[in-house]
Amino acid sequence: MSKCIFCKIANGQMPAHIRYEDDELVAFDDINPKAPFHVLIVPKKHLKNLNDTAKIDQDLLGHLLLIAQKVAEEAKIADNGYKIVINNGKESGQLVDHLHLHLLGGKLLARMTV
Ligand code: 5GP
Ligand code: ZN
Repeated sequence: MSKCIFCKIANGQMPAHIRYEDDELVAFDDINPKAPFHVLIVPKKHLKNLNDTAKIDQDLLGHLLLIAQKVAEEAKIADNGYKIVINNGKESGQLVDHLHLHLLGGKLLARMTV
């Protein structure tokens, strides 16, 4: 059984506030939000980060972005603007080794990092 926390959330073994789910991915609230709105968009396939992706993941990567847009629209933050962040590897600050997009919004984020 996987010890990865995002695999556990994606397959329902760990709770999270889920905003969207389909066969390919799940979007849920970050447990420690760095902005008024902070959602993680997570593929169900375990990929460590972007370094772990290849041509076969092209559709999945596009899907992650389009669902980020949909979640932002549904949360009514799309018009005011939002930030997408993907941390890759230890020098980026990646803490969870399962690829994820941070979707951040709800206040001025121009100089913020996560
Ligand atoms: P990273 O630094 O890897 O890009 O970001 C990992 C994010 O996952 C952090 O913002 C952190 O707050 C969030 N996180 C870590 N553990 C959990 C958890 O168990 N549940 C949820 N919902 N978020 C988590
Ligand atoms: Zn995983």
